[in-house]
Amino acid sequence: MTRRQEIGRGLASVEERIRRACEESGRSRQEITLVVVTKYFPASDIDLLVDLGVRAVGENKDQEARTKIADVAARDRIEVHFVGQLQSNKAASVARYADVVHSVDRARLVRALDRGVHRADRAEGGVTALIQVSLDGAEGRGGVPPGDVPALADDVAASRLRLGGVMAVAPLDGDPDRAFGRLEEVSHELRGSHPGASWISAGMSADLEHAVAHGATHLRVGSAILGSRPPHR
Ligand SMILES: *Cc1c(COP(=O)(O)O)cnc(C)c1O
Repeated sequence: MTRRQEIGRGLASVEERIRRACEESGRSRQEITLVVVTKYFPASDIDLLVDLGVRAVGENKDQEARTKIADVAARDRIEVHFVGQLQSNKAASVARYADVVHSVDRARLVRALDRGVHRADRAEGGVTALIQVSLDGAEGRGGVPPGDVPALADDVAASRLRLGGVMAVAPLDGDPDRAFGRLEEVSHELRGSHPGASWISAGMSADLEHAVAHGATHLRVGSAILGSRPPHR
């Protein structure tokens, strides 16, 4: 099997899972963006994905992403989503190539991204920020507690970033339904004060059905499409 066929199969099986999950919760596939997480995989895989119709890819390390994205032949046809924990000193670099940052979890990072957008001459609102929410047990993987979301949302809304909504990673040993249910509530509250912040980034290879059931608008799926990741270098 060629790499293209391998990725095509992975993509088809994930699309089928999304289609069924949508059917079960009475949602439309159009409401959901599939972000294929390409971390550790080469730029050539991104080109294959684009050929197969994918338009959004996710990366989680600046050092890897900034060189890889520049090598993608179809660069102008992809939307780049930064999904990993982000140090403030890498924010200026990420602001140059990312269209969406899913992991905004502190005011300092908002300020650093805001300056980065300005310096990179990106349009105001050209980079969308999602507030990463820490759901019980998920500490250490970034995110703010639900109670801190409103203040941070106001910071983002006052910056050059566009406030897109919320993101979470389900706790490793917890119940994904409970976690994504809680995230859906946090999103609902946020939309009370920021009606445009309607995105919910939730769900990965193992739990995307639960995320669709709880209103996810963005799924971040890696291994179920690309295969198991090579060991971390
Ligand atoms: C790697 C990663 C994913 C994708 O995980 P899979 O289990 O491979 O689907 C999603 N979200 C984040 C934040 C990641 O770092």
